[in-house]
Amino acid sequence: MGRQIVCPQCRQAKAVRVQARSPREFVASLFRMVPFQCQRCDHRFLARRLGPAIGSQPTERREYMRIPVRLCLSFSGGRVRGEGIVLDLSLGGCIIQSEAHVQVDDIFYLEISLAKDEPPVEAAAIVRSVSARGIAFKFLRRAQEDKRLTAFIQTRAGSNTSVSVEAAQSSLSS
Ligand SMILES: [Zn+2]
Repeated sequence: MGRQIVCPQCRQAKAVRVQARSPREFVASLFRMVPFQCQRCDHRFLARRLGPAIGSQPTERREYMRIPVRLCLSFSGGRVRGEGIVLDLSLGGCIIQSEAHVQVDDIFYLEISLAKDEPPVEAAAIVRSVSARGIAFKFLRRAQEDKRLTAFIQTRAGSNTSVSVEAAQSSLSS
C-alpha cells in the first residue's frame, strides 16, 4: 500500500515500516515519526508516518462554530458534582469556568440552562483539557441531535461575539 520510503543511506526505495522497539522510537511516535528499516542495507531510521496526517482530517472541534456565552450549568459524574458557567459553546462541546476538580478523560453529565424558564439541555461530555481558560468538554453524543441547543447556537451565531466575550470576562474578574 502507498508510496515507498527511500532509505537515506543507500537511496533505494526499499524501506519498510517496522515496530518501534527502543525508547527513542516510542517517543518519536508521539511526533508521528515511525521506524523504518531498509530491506537492502538494513539501515534503520525514523521517518514520517505514511498516510494522511491526523491534523489534516476534519476534526469535530473545527467543524463547529463556537459561540461565546454565559450560561449556568451543573454537572455530575462519579463522585464529583459541580456547578459552573459555560463561556464558550458549540455543537461539539463547551468550555466552562468551575471550581470543581476534574481530570482529563472524566465523563460527566452536563445540564446547561439555556433559558431561565426552560428545563436545562442535557448532554454527556468528556473532559478534554483543564487549563486557566477553563475546563474544555467534548460532547459525547452529538449535541446536534438536540434541537434546542442547535437553535440556540444558530441564533447566537449571527450576533457580535467579541462583545459578549468581554462581558463574560469582566463579570468573572469582578
Ligand atoms: Zn538502505
